[in-house]
Amino acid sequence: MFFKMKSLLKKISYAFYKKGQLKSHNIKLGYIFHTERLYDDRLFNQLILFCKKYKAITCAEPICTVIPPSNLQLKRELNERAFPEKEYASRIIELSQYSTIGYHGHFYLDNNPFNYNAIHCNSFNANNLTEQFENDINWFEKNQIPHNNIYAGGWWFFNENLLQLLLQYGFQFDFSFSKAPFFYNQFSNEIMNENNIPTGEVFEIGFDGEKKLTCIQNFIGMHTTSFPEDFDRNMKKLDLNIKELVGVVNAHDYDLNFDNTLRCIEFQMKFNNIKFLSFNDLIGEKPFKSIRLFSAT
Ligand SMILES: [Zn+2]
Repeated sequence: MFFKMKSLLKKISYAFYKKGQLKSHNIKLGYIFHTERLYDDRLFNQLILFCKKYKAITCAEPICTVIPPSNLQLKRELNERAFPEKEYASRIIELSQYSTIGYHGHFYLDNNPFNYNAIHCNSFNANNLTEQFENDINWFEKNQIPHNNIYAGGWWFFNENLLQLLLQYGFQFDFSFSKAPFFYNQFSNEIMNENNIPTGEVFEIGFDGEKKLTCIQNFIGMHTTSFPEDFDRNMKKLDLNIKELVGVVNAHDYDLNFDNTLRCIEFQMKFNNIKFLSFNDLIGEKPFKSIRLFSAT
């Protein structure tokens, strides 16, 4: 009842909503999945189909950052379903034909994979983090599945230890930083505030004299409603202070709304002139004129 009412109210208010409110900005957007349930036949088939339709509409491929089966929670889920790890690896390889694969990390205190033990803030154990991170990286290597040096943080967790690990293992691109309140992380927030990084600016972080990680911000989570105007409204909450914005929007494989999302993408291309880009084009764009180099200390 409440949702029906809310939907009706939205329908009425959007009838008076001006289309193309983001048009004065030049927005270049990637679409990134936090891919977590490839063992689910329905979700897997839907994801492949989505990637194909997305490409037909935008000429771009999404990025699918995947949790590897070395992840303790995913391992448990695969065991419960008797889903073979080899098959999981095959599904990632199939997905790589339609998207750019990256690594999506989720880490747990005391190696105990339940949500109440999730490492998503700074109360964590560095040894747990290192062990689980290295197990994941080894899984990609062992199965010869490239993660393309792309990372997106589970629960938006990020800190200096993780940055150190990412750089040590050659990661170059990150999609964990966000200004959206739902995706808040203390470390990310401090880095962006202290360095005056506005929404949509690509920047690099690293330690003195070392390699750098290029960070492309995650603007918002893709809404699932049938109202494409929700996208405009959510984006406008982010203080869009610069003209040229580069970033991604995200969804999980399990909360994707297939039809509404594709419809919204078409709406955004038409009314806001948003350009949807594949990973290579996203990093090849030149928002980099304003890249800031600094050291995380
Ligand atoms: Zn996740």
